[in-house]
Amino acid sequence: MSSIKNPDKLYSSEKNAILPGVLYLVATPIGNLSDLSERAIKTLTEVDFIAAEDTRNTAFLLSKIGIKKPLVSYYEHNKRERGNIICDRLSSGESCALVTDAGTPAISDPGEDLVALCIERNITITSVPGPCAAINALILSGLFTARFAFEGFLSANKSERRKRLEEVTSEKRTLIFYEAPHKLKQTLADMQEYFGKDRKIAICRELTKLNEEVIRTDIRGAIDIYSQMEPRGEYVIVVSPVSESELKDKAFYSDMSIEQHVNYYIENGFAKMDAMKAVAKDRRLSKSSIYKEINKK
Ligand code: SAM
Repeated sequence: MSSIKNPDKLYSSEKNAILPGVLYLVATPIGNLSDLSERAIKTLTEVDFIAAEDTRNTAFLLSKIGIKKPLVSYYEHNKRERGNIICDRLSSGESCALVTDAGTPAISDPGEDLVALCIERNITITSVPGPCAAINALILSGLFTARFAFEGFLSANKSERRKRLEEVTSEKRTLIFYEAPHKLKQTLADMQEYFGKDRKIAICRELTKLNEEVIRTDIRGAIDIYSQMEPRGEYVIVVSPVSESELKDKAFYSDMSIEQHVNYYIENGFAKMDAMKAVAKDRRLSKSSIYKEINKK
């Protein structure tokens, strides 16, 4: 049986005290500066240093609230080497706040790697919660919120993107996706292919900013709207779960893995190559992606 070796406990007589050797995950505004909490300001003011995904963005935020503080850059391409340096400083007793470009650190940004490294190195982590685009979009969507699945960004690679959409076609939880404006139209077209035109969708744009907009429609409606205008700004797409009637009509292979699906055709007399072609056709995936999946072991 595994034992819990290092529960993170913050021992202090003052609730909001900044403690030595602790990493603070500090959420920052996703568009509206007033969303920076009192506790976030106190933490940013009192920690020894701040690790920031984009030091220029963070320097701007700090200047707005009148704070000067040493910044260390921590982003996708230096996270390995920089993560260890940050942990060395934490281990020597300094306190650090991690902030990412916007929102809650570790949600679709390199923060998750620093958290994992701190856990590995027995460094205490705590959070100063605040804005998160995914949660903000979910609560505004008007869709079912009791169960949801956060899917983050879909891959720019066509077959990976389609494979991911296929995996969640029969998802019974509300789905949340982050999307860049230049990929929005393609993503809606792919969603129509996998989820059908009637699925309810909320397209949440520029949340908490002056131009905040939430379009609540179905996938076909969203495609129509964006055939008449160019997407601009930051987007979260919220998609309703599969409906009972969709489930009734669902494909015979929807509970099979790709391998089981290929074997199904082989057992029904197909040669292996033909079985893979048939699976690619059923699933609207490329033959090469099926071939790769079957031969990956
Ligand atoms: N950690 C952040 C969070 O807590 O939401 C997300 C970081 S991720 C790199 C950035 C993505 O979040 C954007 O591409 C967009 O999809 C979404 N996003 C961030 N701010 C947003 C806003 N104000 N309105 C809509 N979407 C936003």
